[in-house]
Amino acid sequence: MATIEAPVRPELHGASDDIIDDAVSFADPMVLRGLLYQLTGDPDLKAMPLKRTTMGRMEIVSPATDDDLAMLHRKAADFLKAYRDSGAGPIGHGPPERLPESFGLVLGRPVEEEALDLMIEESALDPWARALKWQAQPDPERLDSFTVMIIGAGMGGLNSAVQLKRAGIRFHMIEKNGDVGGTGYENRYPGARVDTPSRFYMNLFGVDFQNPYAFGTHVENRKYYDWVADEFDLRSDISFDTEVRSMDWDEQAAMWNIHIDGPDGPHTLRAHAVISGVGFLNRPNMPQIEGMESFQGPSWHTARWPDDADLAGKRVAVIGTGCTGYQLVPELVKQAGHVTVFQRTPQWMMGIPGYLAKSPEQLLWLDRNLPYHSNFMRFKSFYGTGPYLARLFDVDPDFKDPYTVSEGNKAARERSIEFLERKLSDPALVELMTPKHPPWSARPVAVDADYCFLDVIETDQVTLVTSGITRINATGIEAGDGSQQDVDVIVYATGFRANDFLYPMEITGRDGVTIGDLWADGGPRAYLGCMMPGFPNLWVLYGPNTNGGLPVSQYHEMTMLYAMQCMEKLILDGKESIEVTPQAYWRYNNELDAINGTKLWADPRANNYYWTKHGRTASQTPYTGFEVRNFMLKPDFDDMDVR
Ligand code: NAP
Repeated sequence: MATIEAPVRPELHGASDDIIDDAVSFADPMVLRGLLYQLTGDPDLKAMPLKRTTMGRMEIVSPATDDDLAMLHRKAADFLKAYRDSGAGPIGHGPPERLPESFGLVLGRPVEEEALDLMIEESALDPWARALKWQAQPDPERLDSFTVMIIGAGMGGLNSAVQLKRAGIRFHMIEKNGDVGGTGYENRYPGARVDTPSRFYMNLFGVDFQNPYAFGTHVENRKYYDWVADEFDLRSDISFDTEVRSMDWDEQAAMWNIHIDGPDGPHTLRAHAVISGVGFLNRPNMPQIEGMESFQGPSWHTARWPDDADLAGKRVAVIGTGCTGYQLVPELVKQAGHVTVFQRTPQWMMGIPGYLAKSPEQLLWLDRNLPYHSNFMRFKSFYGTGPYLARLFDVDPDFKDPYTVSEGNKAARERSIEFLERKLSDPALVELMTPKHPPWSARPVAVDADYCFLDVIETDQVTLVTSGITRINATGIEAGDGSQQDVDVIVYATGFRANDFLYPMEITGRDGVTIGDLWADGGPRAYLGCMMPGFPNLWVLYGPNTNGGLPVSQYHEMTMLYAMQCMEKLILDGKESIEVTPQAYWRYNNELDAINGTKLWADPRANNYYWTKHGRTASQTPYTGFEVRNFMLKPDFDDMDVR
């Protein structure tokens, strides 16, 4: 390896042997094994004996002995020291044909054939794997005259902007908030953090962005959105504090009229295509409770947490115990005088060790200095929790149990009950906190194994009310058991209008048909989660029936690439509009509904946003990440009406 003058990793270039030795001892040994093999092809790594243990139903694979682990650390440290001494310059990721084997060495068993393409893509070794690759050079004039409007500068909208910019397609963004980040910007209640690994919240092109937490806080997550906006110079393309009120399709011009309201009042903008990145867990669901307006103190929804909220010593009521309520309360007790929690339905909790903890500094050091460490870490965490998530929702028709629907589901229930029993001293409270519905039929809640909601509800500082709410009055809340709970502040942790996709925008497509008309029968649907017949040149990110198959950023990226391939067709073929045919829309949705009817979220014991009043789910996908990727990889133009 030739020495270069300016190292690409100056931190490594200046690192002592001790720093390197210390850092590698914090690495995930299996990641080290696969990564070093990928970089060096060293046969000792492949031959290294393994031991397999189980934690619950999870298999843990690790080096068989301390000597094997020491060998691994020594090899990693030797590699890094040699790389440092050679100048820490650019370094390739080794032969692509070796990747399947290297990934297999990380897992301790071969990666399934069906998983490989997605895994390689997801490792972000090619950070632009989901960028548009033009099939032919577009006519510059035609390209320049084509415009896209992106609604929402959250995680999905930002990726759309990055990808369009890279493809050379003109765009503008409309954002209702004063800054980027969308739902991640709005949810800043105490304790707000993600419950899937932070690495999934980064795009492929952001694989090296450092989040100091394995499960990022809202503060850290926002830094990523800011980084995307700044790194790709997007801010000047965004109209902030501006909201899209309605849109209508102009048949003559084959363009969307987009009616906005912003600092300069109402305006109409026009674009050939629209990407909706408005999300589905974004518009607060405010309950209708008798007397709400009579409460004399301040009240707010968790997604509208005031920056200047001072709850020191105050009596606070929290209504709602989904992910948000359970996350909020243990943080709230650190500030408030007393917290009264109104729980209508308990949810299953999964105690995750270290959920609240920062990643060790050494691990972050490895992400920065061991080439492709972040890529291999991303691969491992994605493989473990990402594309196989859909299996959790399977119902085993031959499994007979009054509470659960499969062997795995039963084990999840038992683990959660053990967690409740370990945390709570009062068996009656364990009973009260045990949900009636099977795990995963509603959104389970990730909590820290050492400090969570269960650690505070038996303290004097918290009152748990489970008898319901009769009414709200001037001084507080009258509970179902007749007790009056006087409070200074009411916080609504009551979730979002998850099934009102695209709400409150009014969207009118061809022939005056509105999105409400299309969805009147059965609620929101879309073809591949993103296209609707009669609504040309419109793609919805994380639209109907997309939840549960893939981490959100990946769905965004796949949908955006799909949409850009449709736009490419319009631009290269000189066409004006593209939309899914009604036949394809119904074919896809009828099949999807039929499979969803067999899934766990159809369980009648669950009552939550997964299942709608129409007797179907509008949010959940029954498909695995592999199936989703196969659907989205290339548009099937036989399913499209292109004019
Ligand atoms: P949610 O899961 O929809 O929970 C809303 C809560 O409010 C439920 O406990 C519900 O009770 C209660 N509620 C609603 N209306 C009520 C009323 N009129 N009276 C009394 N209680 C009422 O909302 P969320 O907790 O905000 O979570 C929404 C989604 O956001 C989650 O499913 C998750 O996907 C996401 N999220 C993720 C994270 C994370 O990444 N860590 C954090 C927060 C949220 P019932 O159950 O009885 O209806």
